[in-house]
Amino acid sequence: MPEKNVTNLLTLPHLKLTHTRSEKRFQYVFCESDIECAPCPYCGDEFPRVHQRPVRTLKDSVIRGRIYILKVKIRRYRCRKCHKTFNEELSGIKKYQRLTERMKRNIYWACENFADLKKVRKYTRCGTKTIFKSYYTRLEEKQRERQWSEWPRTIGIDEHGFNRNKERGHRNFVTMIVDHKHSKVRELLPTRNKAEMISMLSHIPGRHNVRNVTMDLSGTYRSFVKNFFPNAQITADHFHVIRLLHPTINRMRKGITGDKRRHPLRKLLLKNGIKLKVFERKAIWKWLEDYPDLKQVYFAKEAMHRLYHCRGYTKAKRSFRNLVDWLAHSHLPELQRLRKTLLNWQTEILNYFKTRLTNARTEGLNNVAKSITGSEDVELSGEVTDLGTSQTIACEFSMPGRPRLILSSRVHRVT
Ligand SMILES: [Zn+2]
Repeated sequence: MPEKNVTNLLTLPHLKLTHTRSEKRFQYVFCESDIECAPCPYCGDEFPRVHQRPVRTLKDSVIRGRIYILKVKIRRYRCRKCHKTFNEELSGIKKYQRLTERMKRNIYWACENFADLKKVRKYTRCGTKTIFKSYYTRLEEKQRERQWSEWPRTIGIDEHGFNRNKERGHRNFVTMIVDHKHSKVRELLPTRNKAEMISMLSHIPGRHNVRNVTMDLSGTYRSFVKNFFPNAQITADHFHVIRLLHPTINRMRKGITGDKRRHPLRKLLLKNGIKLKVFERKAIWKWLEDYPDLKQVYFAKEAMHRLYHCRGYTKAKRSFRNLVDWLAHSHLPELQRLRKTLLNWQTEILNYFKTRLTNARTEGLNNVAKSITGSEDVELSGEVTDLGTSQTIACEFSMPGRPRLILSSRVHRVT
């Protein structure tokens, strides 16, 4: 019995293990089929004559760094009636195939987990072309699978700006929709326009399933979600809300200290006051005494941090009202603008205290994409072909002089 188990492990069904041989990193597994006789596929004659015994070679799998290669001795028959020749068919081995399904899974795994193509090549001992072909086929399968699957319950929407379009001078934007539960990129749309987004997403079933949507403070996305996902409750991402005053603080600080990004005050002013050390906080407060406007903005920012420290919806709502009322007394146009924004997004901001959802996942995936597309010569080719698994945002990019690039957290480049 153990012999049979080993056979099952190393080979495919209907194959009989004859012997094995190892050579450096390769392990050759010799086997032959145990099917007695195959009928002729052309005329149906049941007893064709064995004509040849060719050996088929297939790469089977990578086990603990060793590459297993199947050497299958198959039968080639010649029919007695119609005189045609044909090979016997074995399950798990398709015609003209040089890799088993197991090997394809291994390649896919390697592509997902290794940092670059070179390592994948080394691990699988396959050429670039084979790897790409196998990987793309698998990705396409996954995409087809996903295309008809319904919307999840919780999603996040974010925009992602690429480098500037050199000809027209505007930035290329992509809308990224993330499935929060599976932390996967669900859709990637090469547009920010509401009507275009609706037309591109209308084929996906189950719009009514979506209950929660997280997003930054974008009016377009809000109106899109209200239109497209009727049952969804929108949560404004709290990082974006807190960041609302950062540009103002930076601008005012620049007016005082000069434009130095590395100025130590920059970090101290933007950081949450609670997280500062006591002497740092005292120093900041003392320094702010001389600049009343900046002081006001700074304390408004601190009040927003405090708002997010509230526990429970009711407390948060009270804190929010207090903040808005306090802002109403300010004479600074920046704070008036902030008050307007806060009032405009009141429901979405306060929803955070019900759902506790953030867009951090979306942003994380976004940063991955940014780090890859940071180089100037990458251009979005328009059609996004695929989005893979948890760590992969795979979509197709064209690079001048390079045929194809999968954009993912682990980049694979054709070199
Ligand atoms: Zn025949």
